[in-house]
Amino acid sequence: MKNNIQLEEAQSLLLNRIIPVGKCLVSLLESSGRVLSQDIKASTNIPPFSKSALDGYALIASDTRQADSSAPVQLRVIEETRAGFIAQEKVVSGTTIKVMTGSPIPNGANTLIKHEEVVRNGDYVSIFRTIKAQDNVIKAGEDIEQGKVVAQKGSLITPPLVALLAGLGISQVPVYAKAKIAFMSTGDELLDPSETLQPGKIYNSSLYGLMARCCEMGGHPLDLGIVPDEIAATTARISRGLEEADIVVSTGGVSVGDYDVMKDAMVGAGAEIIFWKVAMKPGSPIIAAVKDKKLIIGLSGNPAAAMVTFDMILTPLIKRLMGKNNPLPDKIQGVFADNFLKASPQRRFLRAKLERKDGVDCLKLTGAQASGILMSMIGCNVLVDIPAGSGPVIFGQRVSGHIVGNISDGYHQEPVEVYEEEPKREELSFS
Ligand code: AMP
Ligand code: MG
Repeated sequence: MKNNIQLEEAQSLLLNRIIPVGKCLVSLLESSGRVLSQDIKASTNIPPFSKSALDGYALIASDTRQADSSAPVQLRVIEETRAGFIAQEKVVSGTTIKVMTGSPIPNGANTLIKHEEVVRNGDYVSIFRTIKAQDNVIKAGEDIEQGKVVAQKGSLITPPLVALLAGLGISQVPVYAKAKIAFMSTGDELLDPSETLQPGKIYNSSLYGLMARCCEMGGHPLDLGIVPDEIAATTARISRGLEEADIVVSTGGVSVGDYDVMKDAMVGAGAEIIFWKVAMKPGSPIIAAVKDKKLIIGLSGNPAAAMVTFDMILTPLIKRLMGKNNPLPDKIQGVFADNFLKASPQRRFLRAKLERKDGVDCLKLTGAQASGILMSMIGCNVLVDIPAGSGPVIFGQRVSGHIVGNISDGYHQEPVEVYEEEPKREELSFS
């Protein structure tokens, strides 16, 4: 058993033991937020055919070579077509076919003119300028070329990717199955939030935060509830978790107090301890064990410590279980927009919020940092990483951190530039 190891060593010791869970097919809507279990190759061009970008007329560019405002060219309209239909006629010199946005380009035509630019007179249109070939034509494969790998195995499925998959005619998406994570809380003082509060008791908050985080990243939590601070009961609950889940996570009972039973309970369940304690604050008394290739991770019961260690250690494991290629939290650099006056003999993770001010990424603390304080996890999207042996961290100092949770929550982009007055139409160019 290793003792008091570095976070990176803990992460790699555990990640190396993860074997991704099985694969399955899910519907497009269910696939958002899941991880692709195979590369997706475009089976077709997108768009599949060349089509019109506007409502107008399809014609042959060379027919307009002589056209100008005083001597318009006249073309005969031989058909009208629209999106979803193929024109029956072929455009030959001197003729045109009226098209709508999305119409396949009629045979024979090689360019398009906007409806607003022509003058229609019965079966004829007048064109007042020379049109280049391929104007306003959206070419087949302009978005995606047939045969191209559009998304790689291991990537997160985002809403735009869902649209892209749908555009390729994929209705069942190959994804990794959801990782099943069993959660239990040890503590004689704990009550479920559905119970009436009793003297000396507190509600089990830590576990619910962790289970919600598990859901947030697409995992499937199994709630094993509260266990008293007894070795036999804890061992039995761990064994149940191992039967039902891919990883067992517990909170509480990992320190050296008289009722800290987690280590003995893990051993009692037949698990081998991998390490105990990670050199970080909050949450250093974390214990990891393995039984039959399944990990059991015991976190501190303190709510903020439990969440910080979950974000730094469990989140990557769950993501890797579900096939994610780069499961570690993304790193970020920024300017510390606060003062933290305590020294950090031990490596410390400070709960902060990333905000962009005057083009600079600023990291501002979200509140008090003690390991039992949950309030400062609210709004926290970055854990600022203060190296061991640091003195106070002061306003303006460059710091680095790790992105946790949903970054869009509270990340304020600078306001976009707004026009003082409405721009004139000629100043706007559309492409
Ligand atoms: P422990 O990790 O068991 O030593 O607990 C550390 C502190 O966190 C104690 O004050 C506990 O009462 C508290 N605590 C333990 N588990 C939980 C929990 N699931 N929810 C909220 N607080 C907890
Ligand atoms: Mg306890």
